[in-house]
Amino acid sequence: MEVPDDAPDRCPVCDRTYDSVSEHDAGVMVNLLDNERYRRVCFEPRPGERLRFFHHTHAQTVAPEDNGSG
Ligand SMILES: [Zn+2]
Repeated sequence: MEVPDDAPDRCPVCDRTYDSVSEHDAGVMVNLLDNERYRRVCFEPRPGERLRFFHHTHAQTVAPEDNGSG
């Protein structure tokens, strides 16, 4: 598991902030049912590159998004 240097500010899957991002090139098991820290993990497939996992905490999945004009 590695943390990429060019990670985006927001998750490209759900467009929310995230706590951490990791890259994987092998099988990974994810079980968040009993996870106290993380609520959701988004997976970003990137052809030719390693799969990225974006880890969201519970607060990050329920907090209201900033509604800036635009
Ligand atoms: Zn996400």
